[in-house]
Amino acid sequence: MRKYVIMGVQGSGKGTQSKLLREEFGLVHISVGDIFRWNVRNHTKLGAQVRRIMAAGDLVDDDLVESVVRRRLDEHDWNFGFIIDGFPRNGRQAEFFMESYDIDAVIHLELPDDEVRRRVLSRRLCPNCGMDYNLIADRPEQEGRCDICGHSLVTRADDTPEALESRLRDYHEKTRPVLELFRRKEVVHDVDGRPPLDEIQQAIRDTLGLPPYVKPAAA
Ligand code: AMP
Repeated sequence: MRKYVIMGVQGSGKGTQSKLLREEFGLVHISVGDIFRWNVRNHTKLGAQVRRIMAAGDLVDDDLVESVVRRRLDEHDWNFGFIIDGFPRNGRQAEFFMESYDIDAVIHLELPDDEVRRRVLSRRLCPNCGMDYNLIADRPEQEGRCDICGHSLVTRADDTPEALESRLRDYHEKTRPVLELFRRKEVVHDVDGRPPLDEIQQAIRDTLGLPPYVKPAAA
């Protein structure tokens, strides 16, 4: 059983790296942001509660976030473990999490703010299957279309310069101290988020003592 948290500023590649770990090790990938986005897209009550907050790049209320995480983990479908992405994001969420769950490691993807701005503002998302693209480094084969399901790509509502600055501020003020809390427990593994994604995946596996990453052969 492997229980990981992945942390890093927006655009640092948390989602991409989590998916690679999920596929190989059978982990359940729990992204609080993805759960909220699904709810917004499907016009649920929860979606209505978080839509504006998310679009402004602000943080959703802790009680709501905690209940979403608790409900998701209570499903107990994570026989081989889980990787949580985008949580905890402040001191209170970290306390709740550490009281309720043990974790094996925190993967911290490091990326300078300038690189974050460059990446996030060129990010595109498939609203149908959740695949992420980047117009600089990871373009879709056909412009504006998802390579996997063919759906047209969108820009996340919170990938605007204003919302990004708000998220960067929150990250430095509220989320960085969470890392320090985890550091005291000696579970943090710092990984450089700048190299190509397969090198980052390899660095994650090296530091966690996992088997090497074998890049899938091109189709
Ligand atoms: P993400 O995809 O992780 O960047 O999350 C997108 C948005 O969802 C954030 O900008 C917040 O509005 C909200 N969100 C996700 N995770 C959390 C969290 N742990 N605490 C508060 N808000 C969150």
